Amino acid sequence: MKRIAVIGAGASGLMAACFAAGGNNRVAVFEKQKKIGRKILVSGNGRCNIANCRIMMEKYHGKDPRFVHQILSRFGLNDTVDFFKSIGIPLVEENNGKLFPASLQASSIVKIFEYELAARNVEINLHRKAERLMEKRGRYKLITAGREEYDFDSIILSAGSCAFPSVGGSRTGYELAQQMGHTVHEPFPAILPLSIPLKILHRLQGVKWDCAVKVAADNKTLASSEGEVLFTGYGISGPASMDVSREVNRLVIQNITPDIIIDFFPGYSVDGLMNQLETLWKDLSKSASFSLIGFMKHPLPEVLCGIAGIDPRKPVKGLSRNEKAKLAATMKELRLKPGKPRSFDEAVVAAGGVDVGEVDPATMESRIRKNLFITGELLDIDGDTGGYNLQFAWSTGAIAGMSQH
Ligand SMILES: Cc1cc2nc3c(=O)[nH]c(=O)nc-3n(C[C@H](O)[C@H](O)[C@H](O)COP(=O)(O)OP(=O)(O)OC[C@H]3O[C@@H](n4cnc5c(N)ncnc54)[C@H](O)[C@@H]3O)c2cc1C
Repeated sequence: MKRIAVIGAGASGLMAACFAAGGNNRVAVFEKQKKIGRKILVSGNGRCNIANCRIMMEKYHGKDPRFVHQILSRFGLNDTVDFFKSIGIPLVEENNGKLFPASLQASSIVKIFEYELAARNVEINLHRKAERLMEKRGRYKLITAGREEYDFDSIILSAGSCAFPSVGGSRTGYELAQQMGHTVHEPFPAILPLSIPLKILHRLQGVKWDCAVKVAADNKTLASSEGEVLFTGYGISGPASMDVSREVNRLVIQNITPDIIIDFFPGYSVDGLMNQLETLWKDLSKSASFSLIGFMKHPLPEVLCGIAGIDPRKPVKGLSRNEKAKLAATMKELRLKPGKPRSFDEAVVAAGGVDVGEVDPATMESRIRKNLFITGELLDIDGDTGGYNLQFAWSTGAIAGMSQH
């Protein structure tokens, strides 16, 4: 009999346990929280965006994103869809290729995993935090925080990242990997709101507006997105800003301060916007901000006038050509400087993690320790929003599980 421990009952660990079970294998899952799959429960706003039909390699990041290609060619989208179908979870497609369980409830996924693990005789140990691993000739001793000791022939380390600690994110996975000799690239928060220390902007708190957002440094565009931006009391949030947050934080932690460039009117060319503004400015007695209230949500007109250095009360007839051009430029290309990255508490994922060069993508086995397998977000791969992170977790978990037979 082969004894296998899965550390972490998140997306990749649950998948690994399902695939490892059977034959001569005895699988035990160790989960530090009192329930399995807590991050799955909050994923996709409680609906769980399981995967994405439009798998694109550029959606993945890390020191060597080519690793993802090898993973997905071994267990890809079709395998994922077939697996979920086989356990009673048909998927439905929504906008931008996003796949969800037909129930649109993340809780159904966790419940079905509970059922599957029981059916496959997997032992679940809740409230058991793996604290230490000791290896001797390819066999392992696992020591929990409660000082219990267990012996295993194989370990699947699926402890996730330090993102979102309220549902289990912690650094313990990195620590266990380091105990085993692995290199961990310092994690940093990705897919989260951005702080912008420009006081006047904070007056927009609560305003949502469809914008194009770009991140630029040295006159090069490094990331871009288009969609809703939510202005907050500290900076910006919402899908378009979350999409570019990884690149902003990557640069900021390298002491590079990029420009975050917001285009409030991506549907207009510069000339087109100017023509539109000229029609709004026909009534010369309106104030600069009042002339815009039918065109932009309150209080964007005042705030953008303020940022452009124009008194919002100034009548249109008093606006110089230069001021008009500056206001139009502020609407088309507002350049903002980010503050410090916000904390992991708000981060959907952590970039960084275990160096993927030290893991064999064909099996997920460590190239440093025999019979140690590493999966999911603990690895130095992170994806964009849209189901890419869970896809990577399911795929790496399935491969590690299959490798136990
Ligand atoms: C709010 C939110 C929404 C998200 N929505 C989506 C989405 O819709 N689509 C998408 O693709 N991705 C989404 N993600 C990201 C996705 O959930 C993760 O990438 C994925 O869950 C990672 O799987 P994992 O198995 O690597 O880690 P996790 O799912 O985090 O599982 C790790 C588990 O290990 C346990 N653990 C940690 N250390 C120990 C230890 N020492 N001993 C025992 N147990 C331990 C943790 O408690 C946890 O249960 C979301 C993330 C968040 C935070």
